[in-house]
Amino acid sequence: MKKPVFDYRNCVSCGICAQACPVSALGMKKEGKSGKYRNVFPELINDDCIGCGQCARACPMEVVTMEEAGDAG
Ligand code: SF4
Ligand code: SF4
Repeated sequence: MKKPVFDYRNCVSCGICAQACPVSALGMKKEGKSGKYRNVFPELINDDCIGCGQCARACPMEVVTMEEAGDAG
């Protein structure tokens, strides 16, 4: 099954991806720096992801790509 992979360099921390997820598998939890500001970024927060790709389609910055996660998840 495919899982979302994030290229945080272009992430603007808008949270649209997390809102788009139908199973609430994404949270704006990952802390990092965006320019000179500390900010939060999306990450998988549980094992509920069903690989639907809604988050990748919803992201306006093309941060999210769906990649095969393999059996180990
Ligand atoms: S692929 Fe679907 S289920 Fe998984 S995190 Fe993205 S929106 Fe949620
Ligand atoms: S929708 Fe895209 S830009 Fe917005 S928080 Fe999610 S990954 Fe970042």
